[in-house]
Amino acid sequence: MTIEMSLQEKNYWLTTVDFPQTDLAQSLPARADVAVIGAGFTGLSAARMLAKRGAKVVVLESSTIGWGASSRNGGMVLTGMKLGVNKLISRFGRDLTRRMYAASLATIDCVEQIIGEEKIDCDFSRCGHLEVACKQKHFDDYARQAEVIAREFNHQLRVVQKNELSAEIGSTIYHGGMVDEVSAGLNPERYVAGLGRAAMNAGAAIFERTQVQRIERASNQGEQGWSITTARGSLWAREVFAATSGYTGKATPALRKRLIPIGSFIIATEILPEPLARELSPRNRMIYDSKNYLYYYRLTPDRRMLFGGRAAFFPENDQTIRRSAEILRRGMIDVYPQLRDTKVEYVWGGTLDFAFDIMPHAGLLDGMYYAVGYAGHGVAMATYQGQKIAELMSGDKPDNPFIGIKFSGAPLGLYNGKPWFLPFAGAWYKFLDWVS
Ligand SMILES: Cc1cc2nc3c(=O)[nH]c(=O)nc-3n(C[C@H](O)[C@H](O)[C@H](O)COP(=O)(O)OP(=O)(O)OC[C@H]3O[C@@H](n4cnc5c(N)ncnc54)[C@H](O)[C@@H]3O)c2cc1C
Repeated sequence: MTIEMSLQEKNYWLTTVDFPQTDLAQSLPARADVAVIGAGFTGLSAARMLAKRGAKVVVLESSTIGWGASSRNGGMVLTGMKLGVNKLISRFGRDLTRRMYAASLATIDCVEQIIGEEKIDCDFSRCGHLEVACKQKHFDDYARQAEVIAREFNHQLRVVQKNELSAEIGSTIYHGGMVDEVSAGLNPERYVAGLGRAAMNAGAAIFERTQVQRIERASNQGEQGWSITTARGSLWAREVFAATSGYTGKATPALRKRLIPIGSFIIATEILPEPLARELSPRNRMIYDSKNYLYYYRLTPDRRMLFGGRAAFFPENDQTIRRSAEILRRGMIDVYPQLRDTKVEYVWGGTLDFAFDIMPHAGLLDGMYYAVGYAGHGVAMATYQGQKIAELMSGDKPDNPFIGIKFSGAPLGLYNGKPWFLPFAGAWYKFLDWVS
C-alpha cells in the first residue's frame, strides 16, 4: 500500500517554531576563548554555560541553529543508557555503573532546570516512558532489570503485566511493559531554538553557515591554542569543543573514525481525534519497544502520532527518507491497526552517532574537547554533557563518569569514517531481533 500524496518530506517540528535570527553578514572575531563546533543541544548548552561564566564563546555551525539531530528527534527525554544495566555492570563494574546511572537521572533534571531558568516554551512534561516487550523473554527480563536498578541505583521502575497493559497503550501486540515515571517529553525544535536564544542572551556569538574546514595548533600573542579555518574566514581560539555528533566530519578526523553515523527516521500523522489519541496512549508516555531495530513513538502536543525507527540504516537522503515512510507506516499499523486509515502527513530523517561500544564519550582528544556517542539517548545526555564539559573548561572538576572510559575506533583500524559496513550491521541487527 502506498502512502497518501499529502505526505510532505519535511520535519513536522519545524512547523512549530521560529528560530532566533543571527547576522549572516557579521564577520568572525579574530580571537575567542572557546570555539564550539556545532549548534545542537551539546554545543548550545556548552556555549550558554561558558558565556554565563564570562568566556568569550563563538559557536560555528555549518548550517543553522539546531539543523542536526537536535531538531529532528522524537523529543524523548529518557533515563538510562542505550545499553542495559547488566551489560553496563559487567563491562564497567558496579561503582562506575552507579555513577553513570545517577548521571543519566541527573540529565533529566538538567534539562528541566535549563527550561525553567530560560523560560523555554517547549511542552516539557514529566510524562514518563514505557518500554514494551516484543517477545515473552524480553518481558521476563524486565523484572530482573527492575530489581537490579532498584537494588543498585535506588531507582524504581514499574513492570506492567500484559493484562494491565491497556491502561498504558492501545495495542495488543506486546507481552508486557516497563514504566519509568522520571522520563519526560518535549518539543525538540522549540527546545533547541530556546537553547540557542539562551546562549545568545548569555553572550555567546553564534555563526550559522560557517562550516569548520580545518583546525591546526597555533599560538597567538604567546598563548597556545588553535587556528580554525571556516567557510566564513578564520579565527584563533584558546580551546575547541567539537559538538558535532552524527555529523562529525573531516575537520576532526580522530573523532570521526570513532563514530558510526546511523540514520533514524520519523513519520507524523494528521491530527487525531481526542478519543483515538487517548486510546492509543492513555498516559501520553514516550514509548519504545524492546528490539534492536526498534520503533519509538509518542503523541505530539497537538495529538499527531509521531512514529520513528531505524527503518533504513544509512543516514538521511531522498531515497532513505521515502523508503522509510513506507516501512514506518507499515510498522505503525502493526502496532496500532486503528491507524489504518489515518493520513501520514510528514516524514523526515536524521543522523545518530554511535561509538563502537554504544556508550557516550566525553573529554579531550588530540587536545580538543568533545562530547559524543549518545546513540539515540541524546536529548538529555547531550544537554548535560555540554554543560559538564563547559564546567570542566572553566576550571571546575565536575563528576562526569563518561570521561576517561576507553574510546576506541573500529577493531584493527578498519574504518576511517566511511561506514562501509552499515548494510552488514543492519542485517546483523535484524538477525539478532529474529533469534533473541
Ligand atoms: C530521527 C532521530 C530521532 C531521535 N530521537 C531521540 C529521542 O527521542 N530521544 C533522545 O534522547 N535522543 C534522540 N535522538 C538523538 C538526539 O537527537 C541526538 O543525540 C542529539 O540531538 C545530539 O545533539 P548534538 O548537539 O550532539 O548533535 P547535533 O544536533 O546532531 O548537532 C551537530 C551539529 O554539528 C554541525 N556540524 C557538523 N560538522 C560541522 C563542521 N565541520 N562545522 C560546523 N558545524 C558542524 C551540524 O551541522 C549539526 O548542526 C534522535 C536522533 C534522530 C536523528
